[in-house]
Amino acid sequence: MKRTLSFVFLSVFCLAGMMLAMAFSEKGEPMAQQAVEKADYTITLSPGTKVKQGTPLIVKLDAPQDLPENAHAVINGSKGKFFKQDNGLYEALLGVSVDAQPGVQKLEVKTADGKVLATEYFQVLDAQFKRQNITVSKGTKGLQPLPGEMEAIQALKVNVTPVRHWDMPMVSPTIDCQNSPFGVKRYHNGVYTKDYHKGVDLRSPQGRPIRAIADGVVKIAAPQFRLHGGTVGLDHGQGLNSIYIHMSKLAVKQGQKVQKGETIGYVGSTGFATGPHLHWGLYAGGIPVNPDEWIKVQRCS
Ligand SMILES: [Zn+2]
Repeated sequence: MKRTLSFVFLSVFCLAGMMLAMAFSEKGEPMAQQAVEKADYTITLSPGTKVKQGTPLIVKLDAPQDLPENAHAVINGSKGKFFKQDNGLYEALLGVSVDAQPGVQKLEVKTADGKVLATEYFQVLDAQFKRQNITVSKGTKGLQPLPGEMEAIQALKVNVTPVRHWDMPMVSPTIDCQNSPFGVKRYHNGVYTKDYHKGVDLRSPQGRPIRAIADGVVKIAAPQFRLHGGTVGLDHGQGLNSIYIHMSKLAVKQGQKVQKGETIGYVGSTGFATGPHLHWGLYAGGIPVNPDEWIKVQRCS
């Protein structure tokens, strides 16, 4: 059932923390004094209104008229651009970051000049990411990126192109189990790196073909990045991008279109790696998100 965004918010602050009570009012009913008039925008969040840190969030919007160009969904400063889908609804892709504060979060639909068209609230749940220590050799530890390497990764992360290539279900890039999950707090030789694992590691042997998780266009095809090793970055459109690193060999060229399941390269141990495996990651609206939310892969036993 659709829910309109004509509602009354009553913010209740109590000693135990912040609680938000939402009282929904049907259109036309007398509204309380705190009422905020809103047009009939209907927002639906996927996977829902309770999301763990590190989750990709699809904001579906039923708008009463065409949205102005460059309308965005905004959560805590990060933005996902709205695109009209074949079914007439708008969708924006965003990520709930790993370090998002657990509790109630505000989501706004904003025009380019900052006008708020609609507001929704959702709950961020603590994902309780664990720690993981990795033993790294001195040589590996001192690896520095090539000039332009980090810039290329950053450009992939925030890449937003208008044509949507991706759809569900997606496929895991290899057939192997997962031996390091997304989000774990990374320690190197017992020392906290102040960083977290921005993708998942699959325990894949040297030479295993790596598949594209969804249709897309090759944005990075770098056989010899120093830190990331052999790297492929795919643009799946409308703010979804994926990255595959430590490859022994690439099977695609920059600008090439790929289909879901197509081989894009082969597993290796290049760059900052302690042995053959595939590290791959997903960026949603510029935020690293947990691939496991969309592509379930068994943990290695
Ligand atoms: Zn990894």
